[in-house]
Amino acid sequence: MSPPNPLNILLRHIRLSWIVLMWEMCWPLKARMILVILMLVSVGTVFSQEPVPTETSGITIHVVQRDETLSQIALRYGTTIAAITTANSLLNPDNLQIGQRLIIPGTQAATPGMIVPHIVQPGETLSTIAARYNSTVESLSEVNKIAGLGSLYAGQTLLVTQGASGTLPPDKISLHIVQAGDNLMRLAAQYQTPVLRLAQTNHLTMNAPLQVGQMLIVPDSAAAGQFVNLPNPIRDFQLGPLPAVQGKTLSARIFAPAGLTITGEIFDRPVTFSPVNGIYLAMVGIHAFTEPGIYELHLSLTDEAGVLVAYELRIKIEDGGYSREDINVPPEQENLLAPEVVQAELDRVTAIMSGFNPQPAFNGLMGLPSTGRVTSQFGTRRSYNGSPYNSFHGGADFGGLPGSLILAPADGVIVLAEPLNVRGNAVIIDHGMGVYTGYWHQSEIYVQAGQKVTRGDVIGAVGSTGLSTGAHLHWEMWVSGVQVDPLQWLTYPFTPEG
Ligand SMILES: [Zn+2]
Repeated sequence: MSPPNPLNILLRHIRLSWIVLMWEMCWPLKARMILVILMLVSVGTVFSQEPVPTETSGITIHVVQRDETLSQIALRYGTTIAAITTANSLLNPDNLQIGQRLIIPGTQAATPGMIVPHIVQPGETLSTIAARYNSTVESLSEVNKIAGLGSLYAGQTLLVTQGASGTLPPDKISLHIVQAGDNLMRLAAQYQTPVLRLAQTNHLTMNAPLQVGQMLIVPDSAAAGQFVNLPNPIRDFQLGPLPAVQGKTLSARIFAPAGLTITGEIFDRPVTFSPVNGIYLAMVGIHAFTEPGIYELHLSLTDEAGVLVAYELRIKIEDGGYSREDINVPPEQENLLAPEVVQAELDRVTAIMSGFNPQPAFNGLMGLPSTGRVTSQFGTRRSYNGSPYNSFHGGADFGGLPGSLILAPADGVIVLAEPLNVRGNAVIIDHGMGVYTGYWHQSEIYVQAGQKVTRGDVIGAVGSTGLSTGAHLHWEMWVSGVQVDPLQWLTYPFTPEG
């Protein structure tokens, strides 16, 4: 090997300096381009149902959606299948799970001046958001054209210039490479994060064996509540998923000392909080006809001494983008049943599915109740014989061969299992916390009221009983007394943990 040529070293140095110089000079242009792209992206998300990647301060994490492939995800983020496979220690890249979280490599590391979207959480103000990203209130106000301090609402998307204050924002999550002897309990203790949250973030079951070299995302529990401005004794308050959408479920988690009574109200309906696993949890169903807009959630907290804390939070509800459907009912098929029979059945089903059992039995993603194809989505606005579109499809329909099995999508207790006039052979499962699922038009019922079921148990078979024109399963979900889209629970993991 010959000694390095001084001229070559000099040339290489000049080339490097030139690249650095170009990088520096191009920066304002790049920042402007990124801003324009981000604005287009955020405008796009208002009008489409595209899932937004989870933005956890610096590192981009993608939540796998139904039917998504690794090549689509790689294309979307401008990276490669190989890079994602390596970053996530994927054993089988063809086997992605809905809800699985993937680290998107090449997008990590907070960059000063980089503009990132931030979805406003409860208790956040311009000051707390500026602190979280080491940005400034002035920069936030300017980029987002915000005048007053009190104009933020939960679910609002802001653009944040990271490090506008002059220093880099700290990372709010860390990555851990699994060593021999590591297990979830030990890592949870080491990072002082709840073990269930660690498992959920990495899409692992509690007893999953860890592979040496596997990369885990460690959510920073120490950061929880650090960047919010909430009244005592609320330490943190999380809503998920944000932004909230009409016809969907919203979970509310309050971190506060034990022994409190928390009551709430939104859309003129009560929000019932229960102490579960060290937090206060409420599940909120948003009616499919709730007008998109800003709504107030009113909370009151009472302790043993009767001291009252009132807190109000503004939440944005977005349009669900539901389509329209015209249904023609031939005159001879109208009024097959007397209206009082139809109303009595609806009243009974509504009363059951508006109940509240404080013990949550759901945990994480729900399973599919049927292997059939979804033939009709929840929320479709319906017009009957030219009437206004003032009713909607209250569930999701699965096509299927008569007799094909219907499975419990999550644990629960059977609270109804009998033939009904309109709904045919019907089963209702109580999953706790005001979450109920219903299964109509079954050919057979295989369960009894009072029976406990676990996820995957067979509860019945697909049929066409009741007012039905062909074999299908109508799967319905009620949350806090409101019909909501059950398919959301297949892709968003609602858990009873913090
Ligand atoms: Zn249906």
